[in-house]
Amino acid sequence: MSAPRSAAAFAQAQQVIPGGVNSPARAFGAVGGGPRFIDRGAGARIFDVDGREYIDYVCSWGPLIFGHAHPRVVQTVQEACAKGTSFGAPTELEIALAERIVEMVPSIEMVRMVSSGTEATMAAVRLARGHTGRDKIAKFEGCWHGHGDSFLSEAGSSALTLGVPTSPGVPQSVVDSTLTLPYNDAAAVRTAARENSGQIAAIIVEPVAGNMGTVPPREGFLPALRQIADEEGIVLIFDEVITGFRVGPGGAQERYGVMPDLTCLGKIVGGGLPAAAYGGKREIMENVSPLGLKVSQAGTLSGNPLAMAAGLEQLTMLSEPGVYETLESRCADLADGMADNLRNLGLDYALNRVGAMLCMFFTSQSVVDFASVETVDLARFKRYFWACLEQGLYLAPSQYECMFPSLVHGEGDIEETLRIHFAALKAIH
Ligand SMILES: *Cc1c(COP(=O)(O)O)cnc(C)c1O
Repeated sequence: MSAPRSAAAFAQAQQVIPGGVNSPARAFGAVGGGPRFIDRGAGARIFDVDGREYIDYVCSWGPLIFGHAHPRVVQTVQEACAKGTSFGAPTELEIALAERIVEMVPSIEMVRMVSSGTEATMAAVRLARGHTGRDKIAKFEGCWHGHGDSFLSEAGSSALTLGVPTSPGVPQSVVDSTLTLPYNDAAAVRTAARENSGQIAAIIVEPVAGNMGTVPPREGFLPALRQIADEEGIVLIFDEVITGFRVGPGGAQERYGVMPDLTCLGKIVGGGLPAAAYGGKREIMENVSPLGLKVSQAGTLSGNPLAMAAGLEQLTMLSEPGVYETLESRCADLADGMADNLRNLGLDYALNRVGAMLCMFFTSQSVVDFASVETVDLARFKRYFWACLEQGLYLAPSQYECMFPSLVHGEGDIEETLRIHFAALKAIH
């Protein structure tokens, strides 16, 4: 499928922007070919600069739970904008959003606004380190917490070797403090906690992993993390940048009934504008500067009024009765329809779903951790991706990403999606 204007834009962009994009996944590197440059979005649909229309399952990689350019979000941002775009002084909008977050997310008693998920996780880890006076952190294979140095490491080749940086420019000395453990493996966490007793400041985890496709926590995994953290005096951080307000009004912590000490929020909380947050127990949050231990964190655009207005409007809309029931049943229809298609085609690919996060993996193994994710057939995914795109379905250009249906993906959109899903799978087998 030729897309002359996108191709020209990509060539032009590459002259002045590294790789032509401002975030690498947008470059379509994992699927080859070039990205579509987007002109506009409306509801569940996006339109590229070549005039093609797609049903969008990326939705800005998660924030747009009410789809593109929702009239209520647009109006509230326009109103905020007319009053001034930034002050560097507190506004009442910030209180309103903070109160709404505290109301919705069960473990959050106080919350700080920042501008990106990356900032939220970096600040939460710094706070945990300040609060405990310890340096090490534990994270999990296949989880993503943004591009802070501490998170850009992977496990070494054996349990005895240190973690290694996953990016040039990340000092070995920084990742020496980062332990990387297998997701869903409580025993490994217990062992690491014992071997590093008194040294681990934080365990940070995506309570439903959403950056290796969709991988739900095994029964007992999150409670085990809670217990280990309590026994060892470790701060438990749930990175709910994806799951927050998506898998339920109170995020994964509410859905699974396990309370972290700190929570990171992003994506939906900003309503499609740059806002993110970290919050949690009052006694810990009261160490953020200017209080208590004065753990540093600041930002020129933190709590930006346009972002506060957009986030608040989305959370207000999400607080209306029946919203999550609608989202759940729409996503169940989508996943059930995809499972039917697979059955009818005689295929047995793994399909994971938690609320409004789902992923079809090109493997017949059940997908429970990063090792099982790595059994996928990437070449097959690539052909599937292009077959879908050609027929008007915009999926994330990587097998390691979720589909993010929104509340404005209507029954007609789901039907059309399932028709394309079937046709694309048929075409590539
Ligand atoms: C997207 C994401 C982040 C990073 O958020 P940015 O706003 O892209 O910096 C952190 N954690 C998780 C789980 C994410 O999905």
